[in-house]
Amino acid sequence: MSGYVPGEQPRAGERVIKLNTNENPYPPSPKVMEAIRDVGADVLRKYPNPTADAFRDAAGSVLGFGRDWIIAGNGSDDILAIATRTFLSSKDVLAYPDPTYSLYPVLAEINESGRAAVAWEDGFDLPVEGLLAARPRAVFLANPNAPTGTFVAPARVAELARRLDGVVLVDEAYVDFADENCLELVREYPNVVVSRTLSKAYSLAGLRFGYAVARPRVIEQMMKVKDSYNCDAVATAAATAAILDQDWARDNWAKVRSERRRLTEELGRLGFRVLPSQANFVLARVPGGAAGELKDRLKAEGILVRYFDKPGLSDKLRITVGSPQENEALIRTLRNLLT
Ligand code: PMP
Repeated sequence: MSGYVPGEQPRAGERVIKLNTNENPYPPSPKVMEAIRDVGADVLRKYPNPTADAFRDAAGSVLGFGRDWIIAGNGSDDILAIATRTFLSSKDVLAYPDPTYSLYPVLAEINESGRAAVAWEDGFDLPVEGLLAARPRAVFLANPNAPTGTFVAPARVAELARRLDGVVLVDEAYVDFADENCLELVREYPNVVVSRTLSKAYSLAGLRFGYAVARPRVIEQMMKVKDSYNCDAVATAAATAAILDQDWARDNWAKVRSERRRLTEELGRLGFRVLPSQANFVLARVPGGAAGELKDRLKAEGILVRYFDKPGLSDKLRITVGSPQENEALIRTLRNLLT
C-alpha cells in the first residue's frame, strides 16, 4: 500500500517561509506555555488520566456540551483513526467527496475497508446522491475541505445525515477560520460526529491534540477502540489551557481571515484563480498551469508551498495563509518569478 505523505518539514534552524502545512503563523497562548512549565515531575512519573478529562470538561464548557459528549485524541488524525476502527469493518465502505484530505483512503486501507471517492458536484457542492449510491457505513467530510478550502452549508450536511444509514464524520480541522460550523448537528442527529483539532486554530500542531463531539452513546463506542493513554499529561494540560483562552485564539483567527482576504486579492492580481476559502489556506490555479515547476522555483527562493500531482489539482498550489510579512514575501517573490 501507499502510506500518507505529510508535507515537508524543514530541518531545525533552516530559514524558510513555511506555507505548506497549514500551521498558524501566530504563537500559542502564553497560558499554554505556562501550563507546560507547571507540569510537575510527579505528573510525569504517573500514567495520565486515560480520557483527558480536564480537557473534556474545558472543551465542554466552551462549546456547551457535557464531558460524555467529547473524546480527546493525539491530534485529530488519531480521532480519524479511532473513528475508522469504530465505524467500519472489512465489509464496509468509507466514502468521501474527492478531492479531499488524502489520509482518508489510507485509513480505510489500513482497516481493510472499502473506499469510495465521489467527485464533488459543481461549485464543490456536497455530492449527496453519489455518496449515498456508494452505500457507505461512514462518510468523512472535511469541512472546510482540504485542499480546496471550500465549505458545505450545515443544512446540506444535515440532509446527508438524515438519509444515510451510517455515520457522517464532519472533519472540522479548519472550521475556526470559517463563518459557520456543523457542531449543533450532533445534538439533532445521532449519526453525526464532529472532529476538531488544536493544531491550526490554537497554533499547536507540534503538540498533537484533537477531539470529537458526538452523542454519548457514540463516544462510548469510540472510547473502546482508542489506545489506553492516547493523550499524554503534558499535551492534556497544554490543550486545556489553550481551549480556555478563547480570546487569544479568536484574535488570531480574525488576523488569519483578514490576511486570507488580502492574499486572495494579491494572488488574483498576479493572474492566479483562487477558490473562495473558508480555511487558513487558499487553493490557487497558477497562471499558465505549471504549478509543480512554480513550487520548485519558490522552494529555491526559500518558500515552501504544497503541490498535489493529482487530477484536478496538478495546475494549482495550496498556500497556507502566513503572517503579513510572510505573505508579502510570497507575493513579492511570485511577482519576480512570473514577470
Ligand atoms: N483533517 C484535515 C482536513 C487536515 O488537513 C488535517 C491536517 N493534516 C488533519 C485533519 C489532522 O490534523 P491534526 O492531526 O494535526 O489534528
